[in-house]
Amino acid sequence: MREIFAAAGCDDEEAARVAEHLVEANLTGHDSHGVVRVPLYIDWMRAGFVRAGQSARVVTDGGAFAVLDGHRGFGQTIAVQAVELGIERARQHGTCIVAVRNAGHIGRVGTYAEAAVRAGLVAIHFVNVAGSALVAPFGGIERRFSTAPFAVGVPLPERPVVLDFATSLVAEGKVQVASYGGKPLPPDALISQDGRTSADPRVLYGEYGPADLRRPDNGTGAIRAFGEHKGSGLALMCELLAGALTGGGGSGPSDGVPRGITNGMLSVYLSPSHFGTREEFERVGRSYLDWVLSSRPIDPTSPVLAPGDVEQLTRAARLTDGIPLPPDTWAAIRRTAAAVGAP
Ligand code: NAD
Repeated sequence: MREIFAAAGCDDEEAARVAEHLVEANLTGHDSHGVVRVPLYIDWMRAGFVRAGQSARVVTDGGAFAVLDGHRGFGQTIAVQAVELGIERARQHGTCIVAVRNAGHIGRVGTYAEAAVRAGLVAIHFVNVAGSALVAPFGGIERRFSTAPFAVGVPLPERPVVLDFATSLVAEGKVQVASYGGKPLPPDALISQDGRTSADPRVLYGEYGPADLRRPDNGTGAIRAFGEHKGSGLALMCELLAGALTGGGGSGPSDGVPRGITNGMLSVYLSPSHFGTREEFERVGRSYLDWVLSSRPIDPTSPVLAPGDVEQLTRAARLTDGIPLPPDTWAAIRRTAAAVGAP
């Protein structure tokens, strides 16, 4: 993967960063945000929708908060820089809010919450995808929201908690994975123009051949927001905070000129040490978590898990067994490699 990004014009450091992020997403079980994205990223790069070699530029610096512009740089570069700034400032002030706009696709948001947790911080991330309305609001049929992910990381001793999900019933990448013959979608994941629920990726992408890039512009249906009116409300908040407040824009239609997508992210970093409650927070938080997890499971072979556990378990299994990829995904990556001249 690194060689593909390097051949396409990323310097070695960025090529490695993007490749590592994607493989890490596969390792944690989020194949939707893994190497299946390589052909699309290269396609976006060639179209000028995402740019190699960019750095986040500071638009406003308020000390305890900052607004950054990613100028369509690779999201894995821009978001990493934004998180580094947030961590550094929260260590200084006890809290920091970082608004990022115009980042290329930042991938799996949990990665950024995990970085903050490793630094001993709580992190809350509201994210939207400007230029990518794919999700119908509660009670509606037409696309209005992006898949607008939300993530929270909490540093508890030995068992950090990382909640990270799209506010759509499934992440768009999961529709992609299903379209390539991977894990099928839940039966009510999508909604077609006539208001019926569906699991058929063609509702979102229209007709496609095995080698075709999946383009939501070709489809007429939508993904459904998760959690009925509550999930739909959270999606709206992600759009308002990560899209409107950051200045990155909402998921709505632009002026009809294709521009690809960008991520906006509003992140809040909190340092329990500065709050003076770190010890108590860890003691009470950890014992409370243990109590939650001790709830008698419905299925005795399947214990109650904390957010973040599935990812850790999958990482351990995949580091041993490898990452399974559907043949179509691998074939698409090989074609992309050949197209950019990577060996
Ligand atoms: P998902 O539905 O798999 O939910 C994942 C969350 O649920 C994790 O916190 C996980 O630990 C938790 N979880 C899963 N099973 C659990 C269980 N049995 N008990 C307790 N907790 C459990 O995630 P998703 O909505 O498909 O999102 C996948 C990824 O897509 C996320 O990493 C998200 O950040 C990413 N995403 C990114 C963008 C973007 O524009 N960059 C957009 C949408 C989604």
